[in-house]
Amino acid sequence: METKSIATRIQNSGLFRTQGLIGGKWVDAYDGKTIKVNNPATGEIIAEVPYMGKRETNDAISSAYDAFNSWSKLTAAERSKYLREWYDLLMTHKEELAQLITLEQGKPLKDAMGEVTYGADFIEFFSEEAKRVYGDVIPATSSDRRLVVLKQPVGVVGAITPWNFPLAMITRKVGPALACGCTVVIKPSEFTPLTALAAAELALQAGIPQGVVNVVMGNAPDIGEALLSSTQVRKITFTGSTAVGKKLMAGAAGTVKKVSLELGGNAPCLVFDDADLDVAVKGTLAAKFRNSGQTCVCANRILVQEGIYEKFADAFLKAVQNLQVGDGFTEGVVQGPLINEAAVKKVESFVQDAISKGAKVLLGGKRHSLGLTFYEPTVVSDVKNEMLLAKEEVFGPVAPLLQFKTEEEAIRIANDTNAGLAAYIFTNNVQRTWRVSEALEYGLVGVNEGLISTEVAPFGGVKQSGLGREGSKYGIDEYLELKYVCFGDMNRK
Ligand code: NAP
Repeated sequence: METKSIATRIQNSGLFRTQGLIGGKWVDAYDGKTIKVNNPATGEIIAEVPYMGKRETNDAISSAYDAFNSWSKLTAAERSKYLREWYDLLMTHKEELAQLITLEQGKPLKDAMGEVTYGADFIEFFSEEAKRVYGDVIPATSSDRRLVVLKQPVGVVGAITPWNFPLAMITRKVGPALACGCTVVIKPSEFTPLTALAAAELALQAGIPQGVVNVVMGNAPDIGEALLSSTQVRKITFTGSTAVGKKLMAGAAGTVKKVSLELGGNAPCLVFDDADLDVAVKGTLAAKFRNSGQTCVCANRILVQEGIYEKFADAFLKAVQNLQVGDGFTEGVVQGPLINEAAVKKVESFVQDAISKGAKVLLGGKRHSLGLTFYEPTVVSDVKNEMLLAKEEVFGPVAPLLQFKTEEEAIRIANDTNAGLAAYIFTNNVQRTWRVSEALEYGLVGVNEGLISTEVAPFGGVKQSGLGREGSKYGIDEYLELKYVCFGDMNRK
């Protein structure tokens, strides 16, 4: 299908929104400036969206602040109904949303459909969790007192999200925020604003009151600055690079805001001699090549024990050879383009660095013949810890293989990084699964499994991979304040 005909189909569904959303109104940038959104698989321009800045963001904050007053006072059951309606609409429009994701982000349509379900699941889950925000009664230290703990919404939330999951990174934040009574100003990535706007359109259709959900996009540092400096914004929730996360954390100090950060990873994938080869290859392939290697939980270092190394490398190579690269709308394609030229240049520089330090390219190692930002699925062996490929997130379809001898050595290498988001282990030894899972300094561990993220489990990193957790019963705490209320003089008749 051509970009134009897909865009027309989505336009006909009413979900092709190209303006920001402030206080329930679709608006352009106040100075009329726009930015282009392109299809990374074809280079075609899909749309122009407003290039907004401080003024629009301040208005979005004011709308969210006003709406907080009434939204936070609804009963949990009322908010739950709105969220459920939003979930139903997201699922009803699953196909158009998936097409939008593939169009602006490039991932294969099947994966995009998976993202819509995964993203919508957060809204469904938190529509249910809304009703379970319990406070507490604490046994008092004197008989004339009663001590109560209330859980209350923090207030207006600034949610800044990346391009690699244009829907799910938003719903994972907005679901719990709205469930407990917060209102939001969303700032999606400049590369993937259309999915965010379509989701916001469906929030309006679900009847979620004006001002509860606002979307601004454009000048990221200016929008970030407006959110950070506002005393009305009580929390920043961010998913993106560690570098930007650190800036936001520092910026939030000025107004002492709550901060949740979902930052970059450097996931180790440990394959032990006693692993089931098929399970290890399948799991590693999924953990490495999902979204063309552009996820924060992608296996970044594949550590293979010496006894299984040759067998694993052979089988893995064969599996990678079969990955079909192309436009995400083409049947059978499992690897789309990278998001932009800068992403390809980064991958090229990491591979060159590894080659110059003695690594061997077993497969791929260059741009794909399709051109644009397509890169060949790549396997590199003889990777050493000092190479960029092992030290930093490559965020592309490059699988670096490293060899290790003992479990202790594998754990030491795995933990030798400032990141601590996801890790994977493949072994059939039950004691080892526990020992290694506990020793890994990571927020998530997959045991004999390469795809572990779900709305019902807590997602988040340790060390410089972030602060806080998203999803699950724990995720809603990030949007709540505890208030202790002491009732005195209770024995008076
Ligand atoms: P990014 O460059 O940090 O951008 C993320 C978001 O921050 C975008 O909306 C971006 O806007 C915005 N931004 C950039 N500079 C800003 C500033 N000074 N103030 C306020 N906002 C600013 O990250 P990305 O390249 O989009 O995403 C990839 C990164 O996200 C990877 O490191 C990946 O590991 C991480 N990630 C982490 C998780 C997790 O859960 N831990 C999940 C997914 C991705 P513009 O795009 O408009 O510039």
